[in-house]
Amino acid sequence: MNNIYKGLDLDRIVKIHAPATVANMVCGFDILGFAVNEPYDEMQIRFSDKSGITIINDDEYNLPTEPEKNVAGAALIAMMDEIETGFGFELTIKKNIKPGSGVGSSAASAAGAVVAANRLLNDRFDKENLVRFAMNGEKLASGVKHADNIAPCIYGGVTLIRSIFPLDIVALNAPTLFVTIVHPQIEVKTSDARSILKHKVLLKDAIKQWGNIAGLVAGLLQSDYELIGRSLEDVIIEPVRSILIPGFDLVKQKSKEAGALGGGISGSGPSIFMLSKDEATALVVEKEMKSIYEKLGLDHHTYVTTMNHHGVQFVS
Ligand code: ADP
Repeated sequence: MNNIYKGLDLDRIVKIHAPATVANMVCGFDILGFAVNEPYDEMQIRFSDKSGITIINDDEYNLPTEPEKNVAGAALIAMMDEIETGFGFELTIKKNIKPGSGVGSSAASAAGAVVAANRLLNDRFDKENLVRFAMNGEKLASGVKHADNIAPCIYGGVTLIRSIFPLDIVALNAPTLFVTIVHPQIEVKTSDARSILKHKVLLKDAIKQWGNIAGLVAGLLQSDYELIGRSLEDVIIEPVRSILIPGFDLVKQKSKEAGALGGGISGSGPSIFMLSKDEATALVVEKEMKSIYEKLGLDHHTYVTTMNHHGVQFVS
């Protein structure tokens, strides 16, 4: 047996679930994200006799199978660049997270691929390195390396990206939180959602925003639901971006009236998320969301789920 393979189980098959994630977390644009328990992508990886990466899609989305055009492949290529090559991977992806929905579809594929491959390699890389590899998938999907979906997908819970270069990830403790997500079936291009943002921020707005970020982090760490609710306010990004999402203001207003702590745009949209302290409230919020989009005549999909505290999960 070749040395490259020493200690590795060449017949092993690793199966994982890679969760959807909510980036930006209202006031935490580009720096805060969290994982949810549903939806999740299902993936399976094994060593392959063929060199390089073979991707098999087991879903309806017709995503590219060329590794350099699929975010999972891009992430694996970055990983393989740092190990002795000599073996290939065969990766099967069953996406349940619709691409472009704003709940981290690309991140789930990229993060799931490297976490699963790492298990085949007897966990040779730590989580921070896995985030680094998976960010290459985000670069392929959106043109920029960002980690606010990747990090929570790998670490679970809420993660703070204190810095991207150099990478500095802080995993935050959070209390039990129920999450209601509505995905109106419209397309919001990440590039459009970025291009409309203002490049300058007023000092008074910046002060409000960093007060809210600090409040949100403190609220999560202290399990202070009132403080979490008060801090879920975004005075910089949301007023500009929300115009791309029909019904946004009404969803927010009705959800809060129903008892939600607060929420906002998930990633760059079009999905909207709301956090609640208990399941009953999260279900009423879902009803409100459905009723708003039914009245608007817009197809939509909803999820009521909980925050995911473990990240990518091994099934076998
Ligand atoms: P999301 O926020 O849902 O991840 P993005 O717009 O960031 O949405 O990423 C989706 C884009 O990445 C789509 O253009 C899709 O074609 C592309 N892509 C390539 N490979 C994958 C993959 N394995 N999973 C999801 N999206 C992929």
